[in-house]
Amino acid sequence: MPLLINLRHVEADDVRLKGELPTEELELDIHDEMVQLGECLHYDVQAQRIEDGLLLQGCLTLPLKCQCVRCLKPFLLQLELDQWTRLLSLAGEDTVPVVNDCVDLTPYLREDILLEIPQHPLCKRDGCGLPKASVGSTHDTSSGDSELSSSAWDALNKLKF
Ligand SMILES: [Zn+2]
Repeated sequence: MPLLINLRHVEADDVRLKGELPTEELELDIHDEMVQLGECLHYDVQAQRIEDGLLLQGCLTLPLKCQCVRCLKPFLLQLELDQWTRLLSLAGEDTVPVVNDCVDLTPYLREDILLEIPQHPLCKRDGCGLPKASVGSTHDTSSGDSELSSSAWDALNKLKF
């Protein structure tokens, strides 16, 4: 099921969409062996009918299993668009497709998620994503994900997305 919003519901009042969308629905065309998608996109979006349009604001979260392009170690990256905003036009030339009073939000999620997926994922180890100069001062943040061993993939695979 794609993510649909019924315009008649939004007409009456703001609508909050919250849930999970299987990543297959996004049909993200990723041919990057360094990045694998988690199972679900989590969304928590407020939809508001405004003049000639539909305003979407909220948070999108997608777990990614990445492989660091520098040290080749696997790591988990939580892709978060916590201030996602999208304005869909319901009048004029750019009107979005409406079928049975519903707008399919999936294509817009797809576009914006695709833009955020890292092309060259880097873990936070010294010499990878973490700038060398700040290694000493960011001790607290980097200690959490230190030492991903060879069993890291097992650990990642056990995680439920
Ligand atoms: Zn690395």
